[in-house]
Amino acid sequence: MEADCVERQCDMEFLSELQDKVAEADCVLSMACGAGIQYIAERYPDKPVYPAVDTTFIGVNKEEVGHYEERCRACGNCVLGETGGICPVTMCAKGLFNGPCGGTSGESCEVNPDQPCAWRQIYERLAAQDRLDSILKISEPQEWTGTVPRTTVQPGYEKEGQGG
Ligand code: SF4
Ligand code: SF4
Repeated sequence: MEADCVERQCDMEFLSELQDKVAEADCVLSMACGAGIQYIAERYPDKPVYPAVDTTFIGVNKEEVGHYEERCRACGNCVLGETGGICPVTMCAKGLFNGPCGGTSGESCEVNPDQPCAWRQIYERLAAQDRLDSILKISEPQEWTGTVPRTTVQPGYEKEGQGG
């Protein structure tokens, strides 16, 4: 088995570097996340492409080696600047943008007693930074359209007639 490494598997420009090697291979085993695996399968549609990893979430290495915890769902409405850097979408069982919900039990979440209440943590983080005014701001309802796949264009790359 031959192995290779590209700088980014989510960019066609870099995938082209694999042209000769993929042509000689029976199949491709990709260690990228699910996005990279799909893109290499799209770039080389005549080759079977297999995932070497099981993409689960955007997370962090938690406490022990090999233990990971989700931290972001890529919601597109990031409020971390207002919540002391704690994500209410992934860390609050109800995904509340305005919290707490009223069911907080001590330091714990009412949905899962083993999980700290995210909004209590947000309160404590903001209090420590003397920024409690942030928690009083009401977040407007989010546009959860459910439309997939989502796309985005960075403002500097918009062509005339595109964008907002
Ligand atoms: S609010 Fe949470 S889920 Fe949304 S982008 Fe920010 S960190 Fe990710
Ligand atoms: S107790 Fe806290 S973490 Fe649990 S659902 Fe309510 S606000 Fe969210």
